[in-house]
Amino acid sequence: MCAVWAEQAGGDGRAVIALDGPSGTGKSTVARGLARRLGFRYLDTGAMYRAVTWAVLRDGVDPDDVEAVTALATRTELDITTDPDDQHVLVDGRPVDAEIRSQAVTTAVSPVSAAPGVRRLLVAAQRDLIGSGGVVVEGRDIGTVVAPDAGLKVFLTASADARASRRSRQDGTDDHRSTAADLDRRDTYDSSRAHSPLRAADDAVHVDTTAMGVAEVIQRLVDLAGERSITRADAGT
Ligand code: C5P
Repeated sequence: MCAVWAEQAGGDGRAVIALDGPSGTGKSTVARGLARRLGFRYLDTGAMYRAVTWAVLRDGVDPDDVEAVTALATRTELDITTDPDDQHVLVDGRPVDAEIRSQAVTTAVSPVSAAPGVRRLLVAAQRDLIGSGGVVVEGRDIGTVVAPDAGLKVFLTASADARASRRSRQDGTDDHRSTAADLDRRDTYDSSRAHSPLRAADDAVHVDTTAMGVAEVIQRLVDLAGERSITRADAGT
């Protein structure tokens, strides 16, 4: 699985920024914006778990059947791009960018991503994609498992209310209560699973985005990166 392709622009050899945190903290928007500011690639690991989940639903596999889910993940080809301005995910050659954001996938993704075999496959693929660096990687276990040597690790948080509001806006729904319940259900599942639970790395910088705008969060991360000598990929060229 995971014959990942690499249009890899801008790898600077050592710079990896790990961005972890629960849903609705603005991770994706911030990660993409940060990658653009730094001339880095952007890897959305959640999209990879969602793509496997889409294949699970396509084939009528029970998301809680760990063996069947792992077998399916093993024979599924997953491709993902890492250009912040040209994000695509393909399953067995079929683009599934819109489908992986469906409610059905969102509901089933936590059990699928708790399967140890799925995590093994995807973590290996993610490390391949990270390669020599120059990349902002977004997920739940990036600073703890996927890239424990990342030059900058950030754990984004936000109040439950702010997260539900942002997610409702993103999904175009005004059902704040059900969005909040969905986020809470996923967080509980993701944080309590046995393998690579959602957790901040000991050396992660915590950034609470509740009262911050996107541009402000991105600027804060650019500053944090600069403090660690992580600068634009093309600086000095
Ligand atoms: O980031 P996003 O909300 O798209 O992630 C979807 C799901 O994928 C999460 O709820 C989590 O179950 C799983 N995930 C994970 N590890 C990651 C990224 C996402 O388990 N590194």
